[in-house]
Amino acid sequence: MKIIRTVTEMQNTSLKLKRDGNTIGFVPTMGFLHEGHLSLIRRARGECDILVVSIYVNPTQFAPGEDIDKYPRDIDRDERLCEEEGVDIIFYPTDEEMYPEGYLTEVRVKRLGEILCGVSRPTHFAGVTTIVSKLFNIVMPDIAVFGQKDAQQAVIIRRMTLDLNFPVKIIVSPTVRESDGLAMSSRNAYLSEKEREIAPALYRSLCLAEKMIKSGKGYDAIEIIVKMRKSILTAGPFDIDYIEIVDAETLEPVENPAGKDVLIALAARLGKTRLIDNIIVGKSKSKLK
Ligand code: AMP
Repeated sequence: MKIIRTVTEMQNTSLKLKRDGNTIGFVPTMGFLHEGHLSLIRRARGECDILVVSIYVNPTQFAPGEDIDKYPRDIDRDERLCEEEGVDIIFYPTDEEMYPEGYLTEVRVKRLGEILCGVSRPTHFAGVTTIVSKLFNIVMPDIAVFGQKDAQQAVIIRRMTLDLNFPVKIIVSPTVRESDGLAMSSRNAYLSEKEREIAPALYRSLCLAEKMIKSGKGYDAIEIIVKMRKSILTAGPFDIDYIEIVDAETLEPVENPAGKDVLIALAARLGKTRLIDNIIVGKSKSKLK
């Protein structure tokens, strides 16, 4: 496994690999890898000749005052895990390499980046789409795998890839959860023992919503959200950012979810940790991919 730290070396390596007829698979991450990341890596491994994983905590997707300084990092462990999973190249650039002096350009997907998480994190998705565009131009992948855990991000990346004609096939891979249902996340490392016990209440509320939608009783979105909110707030001192039921592809609000493909998405703070989670109801898993 090779570790590449500069844009020029990564681009030259990808160009040569492609000239030699290899397909390139790509999994962008911010490191501190867990089973969720590894599931993406395994998915990509099966679909390409050369597998590139990027590890980069991208400053432009964090607003001032967010957690970039304390974001967990462990490059030695990440390297070991990538090696074990058969990754060929880790792209591990510095900030100077990615945003050299004079850098001014931004890639922004309108509307989709302004709703859900975009309300409380108004600059976040522009940071994500900017860095992913740059990484696509640097790694030049044929396929790239993203997690359903970040459902809004996946929808935005698909839109951007279409809109900007990136020749990349986007694959979205299911959310990996702890045995008690909590969606795996590098940020779970911030949770205290007590918070960690309470945190699965978010997933339980999503399951409750799914049950209500599938009950055949025709509950509307407001009734479902009220029940979810109550179940979360009964479980612990969550500060709910949003709970929304939206169309799984357009992210437009859905009033009556029965029989439709809907994304139920939420974000909540528990102590100092902001957690997000979601499920898709009404859509077969195979269609998701
Ligand atoms: P991050 O390192 O948090 O930026 O995540 C890198 C990629 O891993 C993104 O595409 C995430 O959606 C994905 N990911 C993070 N957590 C999970 C999870 N629990 N299950 C599946 N994918 C995940």
